[in-house]
Amino acid sequence: MKFFDKIKHGITKFFYGRYGVDQLNIFILMLSIVLTYVKYGFYVAYVLLFIAIFRMVSKNIIKRRKEGALFNEKIWFPIQKLYRNIKKRLTQRKEYRFFACPACKKTMRVPKNKGKVRLTCPNCQHKFIKKT
Ligand SMILES: [Zn+2]
Repeated sequence: MKFFDKIKHGITKFFYGRYGVDQLNIFILMLSIVLTYVKYGFYVAYVLLFIAIFRMVSKNIIKRRKEGALFNEKIWFPIQKLYRNIKKRLTQRKEYRFFACPACKKTMRVPKNKGKVRLTCPNCQHKFIKKT
């Protein structure tokens, strides 16, 4: 165990003051794994792998944190929101129908099997008729 303790201590010492792993790094690593299965994609995968390792061992924590926050805000949170919406629609599709407002495109949920109903958009007050 003494040998493994020394390795663990060495790794801990090496990563002290370095950025480490965040959501962006995990995304880059996943993307590089996917790209290895695409023809000629492994060249890009190696570049992405290099970027991910660079970000992990980088000591410029403030800059890496800003990149991570920007990635979360612009890419990761919208993907999560889309996934949650799709999941919600799939679990509720037997009891509800979903309509997009023709005026503002906002989605609304209406109980199924109520016949023809006149809907009022809660966002822009536009009125339209739909069959549920
Ligand atoms: Zn509307």
